[in-house]
Amino acid sequence: MDEPAIGAPVMIDGLRFVPMIGSGEISRGIAAVAGALVERYRDRNPLMICVLNGAAIFHADLIRLMPIALEVDYVRVSSYDGGLSSSGTIIFTASASTQLTGRNVIVVEDIVDTGRTVDWLRGYFMERGAASVEVASLLYKREAHMMGNPPEYAAFEIPNRFVVGFGLDYRQQGRNLPAVYLLDDILPAEG
Ligand code: 5GP
Repeated sequence: MDEPAIGAPVMIDGLRFVPMIGSGEISRGIAAVAGALVERYRDRNPLMICVLNGAAIFHADLIRLMPIALEVDYVRVSSYDGGLSSSGTIIFTASASTQLTGRNVIVVEDIVDTGRTVDWLRGYFMERGAASVEVASLLYKREAHMMGNPPEYAAFEIPNRFVVGFGLDYRQQGRNLPAVYLLDDILPAEG
């Protein structure tokens, strides 16, 4: 089947974003992650925890490509940079309601940047008795990664640049874009 041509740039709140990963390519990337997870987690009833808001679309697509027994839950976290602390603090604004003891947890993220969020979530779930925690991320900025282990499953590695679409936002806009777009911050040459 012909794939639709990758789209035109979009404007969000005065900034221009250019297409980077088209929807067909995203579907193939998610299918590859789903295949790897099915291999590893068949008969282990994994608990697939979606990190809201950004991972909602990836999570929904991923679990529907996994024809095995699994359960889902959702957390919402926000990073708070206190100003006095350069490391920042991560706080739950909604935590998982499932009992974690002995569970094989898969944290489903939209993007792993510095790694701080998923590193903290790994520790949190292990402290609450999870038998294992792995991370599946749609996007991974390897160059920006500073903390903990890289994601065990990443559909795409991308450069250390700002992206929106497929769940990711700029000022809460752009999450509904069906492709991933890159901030076009290359300034036009002078003269
Ligand atoms: P980390 O804790 O790995 O540094 O960052 C994770 C969070 O930062 C992601 O869940 C996401 O909310 C945000 N983030 C990091 N890079 C980007 C990006 O390029 N675009 C958007 N929209 N959010 C990002």
